[in-house]
Amino acid sequence: MTEVDSLKEENQRLRDELNDRIFELSILYDISNSISYTLNYEDFMKIMADSLNRIIDYDLCSSLLILDGEKARMIIRAAHPVKRDIFEEVKNNVIASLNSLRPRAISGEEIEFEVRGEILDDKRSEGERIVSSFDVPLFVRQEAVGILNVAAVRDIAYSDEEIKLLYTLASQASAAIERLQAVLSAEKSKMKVMVERMSEGVAMFDEKDELVIVNSAFNEMTGGDLSLLGELDEIKKRRKQPKVLDIHLEKPFPRVINSESACIEDDNGRYLGIVMLLRDVSKEREIEQMKSDFVSLVSHELRTPLVAIKGAADNLLDGLAGELNDIQKDCLVLSKRNIDRLNRLISDLLDISRIEAGKIQLNKQPADAASIVKDVLGLFQASAKEKNIALESLLPEELPLVTIDSDKINQVLTNLVGNALKFTPAQGKIMIKVFRAENFLRVEVRDTGVGIPKQDLEKVFDKFYQVDRNKSFTSVKGTGLGLPISKGIVERHGGKIWAESEAGEGSKFIFTLPV
Ligand code: ADP
Repeated sequence: MTEVDSLKEENQRLRDELNDRIFELSILYDISNSISYTLNYEDFMKIMADSLNRIIDYDLCSSLLILDGEKARMIIRAAHPVKRDIFEEVKNNVIASLNSLRPRAISGEEIEFEVRGEILDDKRSEGERIVSSFDVPLFVRQEAVGILNVAAVRDIAYSDEEIKLLYTLASQASAAIERLQAVLSAEKSKMKVMVERMSEGVAMFDEKDELVIVNSAFNEMTGGDLSLLGELDEIKKRRKQPKVLDIHLEKPFPRVINSESACIEDDNGRYLGIVMLLRDVSKEREIEQMKSDFVSLVSHELRTPLVAIKGAADNLLDGLAGELNDIQKDCLVLSKRNIDRLNRLISDLLDISRIEAGKIQLNKQPADAASIVKDVLGLFQASAKEKNIALESLLPEELPLVTIDSDKINQVLTNLVGNALKFTPAQGKIMIKVFRAENFLRVEVRDTGVGIPKQDLEKVFDKFYQVDRNKSFTSVKGTGLGLPISKGIVERHGGKIWAESEAGEGSKFIFTLPV
């Protein structure tokens, strides 16, 4: 295994681990959120309202609770359908009575409401009002954190027993909340320690864009400047697709930080916030750079002697060194074929290293895609005929002009049609279609050949990837670089390329170019 390979593997492992951690983190966060907020609180409220219902007569039972010292939630449960006025009255009473016990008042806007039961918006039973109402405050560590209220539109004289019961319930509730908060803060500090220990930089924003988690690695890498990582809104818009970018830092020392920002959602698809992960990839990038420099250097150096070898073989074949016998000729023809192959491999390697280094230059000019198709058809017509394959095209009368590097797009199409020809047996058919699809020009190359197994459809665009074939196609030896080069070229044009194939139906390669 080469160093690059093992580095890649190590990288993949790190990435997998990182993804596991994001997942863990988001779950932990979600759990700590729900513990404090919904799950237990709702269960608890439900149990309380149910048991109250059995013992005390009421029309409305409400609970208002402030958790984490900030989030407030109120659940109002109506035993019978009630008018909106009544409901509003209870709501306001309960808020007022909690505020009377707290140093800082909370307003209706800060409270999340939930209503169980029916509210009537019509004018029936006009004039109805709350007649009986009873509040019990909930205290946690001497601080008033909530109110439990029962109310009725009838005159109910609550007995001492009932009131005592309500107080007992309230003190149980307070104890439960206290325990809950202890669990919660233990959970939170566990999470903090875990995040802090990571060598990767981690930050998490909640649904209100507030920074809720951040470790020192993150602060160290960003130096506090979050603008490097992109706008939160942009990351939100991308939803499931993480924003990935390399940041080149000069201070305190030069390095490359890879940042990955993604939205997180709970199981129901509810948006929870954004997680950002930063990793120092300086070493990786340096090796990548060295590798691509090396490849382009070697390719250049190989070319010169190859030109000389080819020239010598040509001279021999032309009889410059005297008459050759058939065996000698065959040998020379074979060498020449392999020299050509070597040449192709070298120029492919050069192309791919330029693409990877982001160094391909596009010479873009307005061009007519139809003429490129005609050129490529002309190039392959003879060999298609020889293999008894029908090579056809379907071009609409009028095609929009595209601003492209014609030579490079020609190279893409040549590669696709060349492949189609390689992997299609005699009597087959290859069809090139070009048409406009919205703001893109779409080019399709379809063949009736061996097709591509589903699991390989994406992999064929990887460097050196070749689908495992039975013997009949091993004679056609390519470089495994044609498709990755095509992909690089199409993407540089702002287009996309992909393959489709149904078992036994041949393959279809499609690429698009912006109009
Ligand atoms: P090469 O053709 O030089 O091997 P490519 O990158 O062009 O390299 O293609 C990679 C692989 O994808 C091929 O080796 C082949 O297995 C598969 N492939 C490409 N085009 C087709 C096609 N039209 N039909 C079936 N397989 C194909």
